[in-house]
Amino acid sequence: MKIQGDIMWGCSCGHIFYGEEPPEECEKCNSLDSFIVMPEEIIKIREIDMLEEKLELDKAEPKNAKLPKKKDNSSKQNRRRSKK
Ligand SMILES: [Zn+2]
Repeated sequence: MKIQGDIMWGCSCGHIFYGEEPPEECEKCNSLDSFIVMPEEIIKIREIDMLEEKLELDKAEPKNAKLPKKKDNSSKQNRRRSKK
């Protein structure tokens, strides 16, 4: 669920702030009243960009070689003894 009144504010430096009202001063570039409401379209594009960046990172990482599954079933079956 989204919290109502939580607006996405974007500074000219790229700093993002979530809140009902923008901060007076940007904590990154220290500029006053530099925050503007980020339109949802921009937010979506940003999210897509972030996802694509993540995917690229995953591809860049070397994949761990998967260990072959051990097959011990046959030996277990052989261990079974008839108790009579
Ligand atoms: Zn800023």
